[in-house]
Amino acid sequence: MREPTIQGDPNRGEPSGRKGRDEPSRPVDAVEEKLRPQRLSEVVGQRSVAERLAIALAACKKRNEPLPHILFDGPPGLGKTTFATVLHNELGVELNMTSGPALDKKLDVMPYLTNAAEGSILFIDEIHRLPIAVEEFIYPVMEDFRVDMVLGEGMSARTINLPLKRFTIIGATTRSGMLSSPLRDRFHMHEHLEFYDADELARIVIVNAAKLKTTIAEDAAWELAQRSRGTPRLANARLRWVRDFATARSDGHVSLAIARDALDMQEIDAEGMDKQDRRYLDTLIKVFNGGPTGAEAISATMNVAVDTLTDEVEPYLLRKHFIVRTPRGRKATPLAYRHLNYPEPLPDPDFSIGNQRRLFDV
Ligand code: ADP
Repeated sequence: MREPTIQGDPNRGEPSGRKGRDEPSRPVDAVEEKLRPQRLSEVVGQRSVAERLAIALAACKKRNEPLPHILFDGPPGLGKTTFATVLHNELGVELNMTSGPALDKKLDVMPYLTNAAEGSILFIDEIHRLPIAVEEFIYPVMEDFRVDMVLGEGMSARTINLPLKRFTIIGATTRSGMLSSPLRDRFHMHEHLEFYDADELARIVIVNAAKLKTTIAEDAAWELAQRSRGTPRLANARLRWVRDFATARSDGHVSLAIARDALDMQEIDAEGMDKQDRRYLDTLIKVFNGGPTGAEAISATMNVAVDTLTDEVEPYLLRKHFIVRTPRGRKATPLAYRHLNYPEPLPDPDFSIGNQRRLFDV
């Protein structure tokens, strides 16, 4: 099994919302890599995605062709990089990893294209952040495995076509809506990753506890799963914290009581929300009277990057119906008020029956 090569962007894996072009980023985490499934059979959940990928793998193996270009989208930590790693292992081909922000110019992407081996995989994380010039440069790569280069200037300028080996581009994005349609259309498979249910996360926790040589009670694994916001990366992070807590406070075994104490100490509540999630709801309710208001206004008040809110905080709150998105912005639902123990707001007068009668004159 070949090790993937990570070039250009040593910080891959950082959720896109936290990483701006000039922001310092986190190095690749060795423990996280150790926990990553390596084979399709090890992947938990996302059954229909895994089944479609198994078909694509079988077909390309039989025809001895590279995999089709694949686009994965979904919130951070749900398995986009994991699927790319698994595909590379299943095929036994080279995997090169980079990200949209690292490919600033055509020259940055050139080495990945010219060095790509036949059938290999190029993984581009945060592909929605590719500059348009680079994006257009890779269209002929994705269609015909060639790059078009203009040599010279003015009257003497000419275009040369450089043929490339046939390889696969796997794109990952947390914002599929930001992808231009010409780029989106060049991917033959589009796979959307969904949040995991508690059952699936509990299975991931149990498997990963064994990889970390930690014993964990089944009810403790379930507790972690329920408090991980449907996200395997968070389940891993919670497991690592709970494991440290168990080692420091007792004999290293993770019982239900230990798991609860450890998560409470991190201020992770029964819904799996952390301080930042609750601060978001608190700001929306207390400062903006429950909304509707725009993400930019909440971001400015909280002093948190708007990308962090839209990529990391909001998807789960939307999924759990703590907030809704309206044409006028985000709005807290009665569930959010109840969760924070605030009195529920009176029904919106604009939508009361009496008012509707008046509005529509019925
Ligand atoms: P993304 O690329 O979507 O941000 P990753 O693929 O890096 O997310 O996933 C983060 C971690 O979560 C991985 O290292 C892996 O341990 C775990 N993980 C993700 N998806 C799965 C899955 N389907 N089954 C088991 N573990 C998973």
